[in-house]
Amino acid sequence: MPTYSFRCAQRCDPVEQSFSMADAPSEVTCPQCGQAAARKISSPALGRGNSAAMKAHDASRATADTPAVVSSLPPAGRSATRTTSNPLHRRLPRP
Ligand SMILES: [Zn+2]
Repeated sequence: MPTYSFRCAQRCDPVEQSFSMADAPSEVTCPQCGQAAARKISSPALGRGNSAAMKAHDASRATADTPAVVSSLPPAGRSATRTTSNPLHRRLPRP
């Protein structure tokens, strides 16, 4: 669930609460002064910055923006890895 930030007119500390996007209210009660705290206009915090999913997402975005560039040819004499566990693999076409 995204986290929304609210702030009252008395300028108390911002209130952060999680709601589903469909149920996010436009204001909540400020826990410090008891007045209505309006929702601040900002993007909802959809993900957790340190989660594995966010790291994978950031890594895939980084490869799209700055792909790894090969600067030299692979060393000569290098052959492709061939599997030997399954005898049917020997019958596959080779380059
Ligand atoms: Zn307040």
